[in-house]
Amino acid sequence: MILVLFGPPGAGKGTQAKLLEEKFAIKQLSTGDIFRGHIKNQTELGIKVKSILDSGNLVPDEVVVEVVVDAVSKEEYKNGYILDGFPRTVNQAKQFDTFLAKNNSKVNACIGLEVPNEELMKRILSRGQGRADDTPEKVALRLQIYEKETSPVMGYYKSTGIFSSINGVGTVDDIFKSICSELI
Ligand code: AMP
Repeated sequence: MILVLFGPPGAGKGTQAKLLEEKFAIKQLSTGDIFRGHIKNQTELGIKVKSILDSGNLVPDEVVVEVVVDAVSKEEYKNGYILDGFPRTVNQAKQFDTFLAKNNSKVNACIGLEVPNEELMKRILSRGQGRADDTPEKVALRLQIYEKETSPVMGYYKSTGIFSSINGVGTVDDIFKSICSELI
């Protein structure tokens, strides 16, 4: 199964992806985590994207799609995966679908977590991960970018008939159950 876990920053995608990993025995693939790993290890890619991540802006589509295509081609993803933080533009979604189609594959489901903006801001500022992009100004920018660039991705997956929306406010367990009920 190839699952897209969709939603704004702070919606709980990472938390739910971890639970889904266990239940469905498929791996999470977080593009944000991949980029932060490269930044930490000061790779060529890490040096290239550091200022973009620090500012809260999006990494260019070509760069992100290449990173994802490289990653999912690895053995550990052959049974499927949970995409967390990708795609973040309609262009990324389309390019990725083209890649999958060439490999006789497709995204099976996209689950969107719905959380109001005030709640997102509160969650991110209180999670204390020490991320450079977790300041109030940068969170506000990331939420704006989400509205403008990323939310249209929902329309894209609605048009292909695989999108379901879930209330992302509640206990981790209840939200997990709602997600699972969409997948079974
Ligand atoms: P995240 O951990 O998902 O919040 O991602 C952190 C940052 O990584 C984002 O603010 C972007 O700068 C970058 N990033 C992660 N995924 C993508 C993506 N699919 N497209 C563009 N930039 C991304």
